[in-house]
Parts: sequence; C-alpha cells; structure tokens
Amino acid sequence: MKIIANHAHVFQESKRPQGTISVLKQVMDECGISQAVAFAPFPRHFNYDEEPNTNPNRWLYSKIKDDDRLYGFGVIDMNKDNVVEQVQEIYDLGLNGIKMHPAFQHFAVDDKKAYSVYEKAEQLGLPISFHTGVHKARIRESHTLLFDEVAFNFRNLKFTLEHVGGYSFFNEAVAVMSNNPKNTYAGITSVFDRGTNRCWYLGNEKVEELIWQTSVKRLIFGLDFPYNGPDKIKEAISCILSLNVDDEDKERILGGNLLEFMMMHEQQKVKSWIENMRDCLYPAY
Ligand SMILES: [Zn+2]
Repeated sequence: MKIIANHAHVFQESKRPQGTISVLKQVMDECGISQAVAFAPFPRHFNYDEEPNTNPNRWLYSKIKDDDRLYGFGVIDMNKDNVVEQVQEIYDLGLNGIKMHPAFQHFAVDDKKAYSVYEKAEQLGLPISFHTGVHKARIRESHTLLFDEVAFNFRNLKFTLEHVGGYSFFNEAVAVMSNNPKNTYAGITSVFDRGTNRCWYLGNEKVEELIWQTSVKRLIFGLDFPYNGPDKIKEAISCILSLNVDDEDKERILGGNLLEFMMMHEQQKVKSWIENMRDCLYPAY
C-alpha cells in the first residue's frame, strides 16, 4: 500500500536538528511512507539571520522543488499586514496548501485578517490544514465550532480539522463536518496516542464513529513529525490498518483522500488558465 501523509513540520537544522527534511525522509523510509506534505516552519520557528533574504515559504520551496516525495504547505505570518500577498506567494511558488494554527499563532479563527486569508485561498484553490483542539490558548478564539463559520462563508475553501477537535472537542468537529459535507475534512493526526498526545486522543472507536457519521472519503492521515517519531507514526498506521473498514477505505485514509484534498477545484483551475491566457493576450495589462 502506498502511503501519502499530511502534516509534517520541517525546520532548518539550526532550529531543530531532529526536524529537518532529511530526518523526515529517514522517518518516512522507516515507516514505509512514499510521500508527505511538509509544512513550512512558522515564522516564530524560523531563523531569519541564517537566510536573511528569504521567508519560511520560499525556504521550503527551495528545499523541496526537485523532490518528488514531498509536497509543501506554506504558512502565513499573521503579524504582518500583507497576508493576502503572502497567500499569493504561496500559490505562485507552487506550494499545495496552507497550514494555520490559530492557538499557536494567536489569531481568532473568525478574525477579519484571517478571513482575508481564507478568501484569497478559496479564490486560488489552496486548501488549508487547521490545528484544532486544546493548545494552551484562549479557547474562545480557536473554538472548534468557529470553523463552521469558515465553512459557511467560504463554500469553495477546502480545509482539514487536524486532530478532529481533539479529545475535548471531537463532537464539535463532527458537528462542523456533518454540517458542511462538501468542504471539511478530518486530519487523523496524533489521535491514537494516549501518552504525550492525550489532548488529541480519539482512538479507533471514535475514528470509526467519525467514518459512520461523516464519510471515509473525508479522513486524511497526518504525521505530526517531528513531534511524533517513527514509533508513534508506525503505531498510528497500524491503528488505521486495524480499523473496521475495507482495504480500499484504508488506502483512502492513508493517502487517496489527501491527493483529492490537494487537487484544485476544476472551476478555479479554469479561472486561473483564463487569467493566464489574458496575460498572454494582453501583456500590457
Ligand atoms: Zn501541527
């Protein structure tokens, strides 16, 4: 079975020697993972001194552009005002989506600036992976139910609820997913570990309930590298393989759904082709 996984955070060596792209690839080899989505480091985790003329998204692009095993998701520096241009740059670099973490990045899910990111991402056909679940930040700013507003206001924006709300907000995440069947997905990431990841523990039973309540086509496996090492990742894969679903469905969770999630909306694709054509035909504009 070919495994394609979402949600690997990667870092410059100076910032996190055990979280580099080359360590990620060793872990992928050890766990039998063919391809993965690497998330650019959050600005707070990026060493700008080392590479002063770049930013986390350009850095990620330069590291993975010739690598057929890695897809890339960019991040937004929410402290800056030019968030719309940042989304455009992620798109122009050819990255495949955006990772956002309201609790860690300290923005409210329904904040005006965040909405301008969603709007641009929707327009460009870029999907978003959101952290959900308790993460030592104001719950009222990142409450899982707020994603219902995102889904309603941005009908063509596809996004994952990573950790599916976690232990505390699983039911809320199911509510958002049941309410918005066309554009919401569940990030099956760090949900099988009762130890260090207990805030996001769901276990097989709840994951099977999630499939029953929503659809097996909406579950996407994620690694949470480097916070999870090879042992935890292998354990998660074996939990998914032990789910009470068909082999075909396991393949979907372990990669097929992710590929669909990253595909641009046909409509958006056509729109961007038309825009490109227009640029070719009327270069002066
Ligand atoms: Zn994460």
